[in-house]
Amino acid sequence: MENNNKIAVIGAGIIGITMALQLARRGHAVTLFDKSRPAEGCSKGNAGHFATEQVFPMADPTLLTKVPGMLVDPVGPLRIEPTSLLKNIPWFVRFLTQMKSRCFRTGTSALRSLNERALPAYQRLLGDKYHTLISSNGSLLVFEGDESSARQSYNKYAKQDISVSLLTGDQAREMEPSLSSTITWALYFDKVAHSTDPYALCVTLFELFIQLGGEFKQSAVEKITQTEHGYILNAAEHQTTFDKVVITTGVASKTLCGSLGYPLPMIAERGYHNMLTVNNTLARPVASNERGFIMTPMATGLRLAGTVEFAALDSKPNYSRARALLHHASILLRQPLPQHSETLWVGCRPSLPDYLPVIGPAPNHHNLYFALGHQHLGLTQAAISSECIADLIDNKPNDIDLTPFSIARFN
Ligand SMILES: Cc1cc2nc3c(=O)[nH]c(=O)nc-3n(C[C@H](O)[C@H](O)[C@H](O)COP(=O)(O)OP(=O)(O)OC[C@H]3O[C@@H](n4cnc5c(N)ncnc54)[C@H](O)[C@@H]3O)c2cc1C
Repeated sequence: MENNNKIAVIGAGIIGITMALQLARRGHAVTLFDKSRPAEGCSKGNAGHFATEQVFPMADPTLLTKVPGMLVDPVGPLRIEPTSLLKNIPWFVRFLTQMKSRCFRTGTSALRSLNERALPAYQRLLGDKYHTLISSNGSLLVFEGDESSARQSYNKYAKQDISVSLLTGDQAREMEPSLSSTITWALYFDKVAHSTDPYALCVTLFELFIQLGGEFKQSAVEKITQTEHGYILNAAEHQTTFDKVVITTGVASKTLCGSLGYPLPMIAERGYHNMLTVNNTLARPVASNERGFIMTPMATGLRLAGTVEFAALDSKPNYSRARALLHHASILLRQPLPQHSETLWVGCRPSLPDYLPVIGPAPNHHNLYFALGHQHLGLTQAAISSECIADLIDNKPNDIDLTPFSIARFN
């Protein structure tokens, strides 16, 4: 098969960069667009966790009993800005309807189909660079309560054939001696991996793309017009024609998709990180069940990341949420931590109300594709998403059923 399409990939986050690399590897002439430098959006400061065990959509009926407690806790894992709630009532209603057990089951099997293929897809994309860029030490989910919630959680994962072990607090401390005695139980996911620098990972993938002859244009794509001969992209007063277009614009996807006739109920789900310059005592990411955040050992220290905040895209970041992570970490770890927070960062997760990404072709256009809305799992699912789209473009068989990820579910 001759792969010589002229393809535009719009948006250079982790999804767009892996997409561009994947397509360039297959011989296509790829131009990657971004309004900023590559990976300056949500992909810059995430927790670096290839969270392949997270196969349960956030629209989980068990969440309902936990939400009120989370909302009253000022440093808790969830905050909803009142204006965001009012503005996005249809989104929240849709989110609630997704909690029906049928939707939850379908969503789980769809996420599982991506997650179980996520790391092999990175291996195929990165080849012998995989082990230098990705650490395969597994991860821990730690609990501070009695055995029942850890065991329930264990059963839930085991039922999905996720490779998981239930550990006592002491067994967890044997693996990670710096965990404090507050931790009573833990789940160990041995097949999970992490990046010690998600931004550097994006930059490395981007450089590989450029080395393959890929082109990068730093300009915002304002308009996409379909013509007889392909698509005209308007960016920075220039017009260029492409055979095919892939939209990977993360949380900003609503505008371009809407202009093409695909309304998208995308919401900005903000999360924060607090980067501490300490010598790492953890060997793997440790997530807290009760506190809703994760501690990942990184090349430059320990990254505390997470929390969910529904707020307007342009509203001021609320960095007290990032600072609060230091307080949580000081309870879970017995290693000395800095007294004050260091580098703080906010990112907007691109979240759709069913917590599934959109991956696939545009139903009413030829040669137009989407890979967006990867919510909490964009780093995890980037390589497999790009493989799915590249296979569609190359007419290659792929055993992932893309029906649950179709944008048609919102039209
Ligand atoms: C605190 C936090 C922790 C997280 N931890 C993890 C984790 O451990 N594991 C995991 O898998 N995921 C994690 N995530 C989620 C993950 O970071 C996101 O799902 C992922 O970064 C989304 O990637 P993206 O490429 O879709 O979006 P982005 O990285 O936001 O990239 C989109 C790009 O499109 C560009 N763009 C937008 N509109 C246009 C336009 N019109 N023209 C040109 N360019 C445009 C933007 O400038 C941007 O660079 C975390 C997120 C947060 C906030």
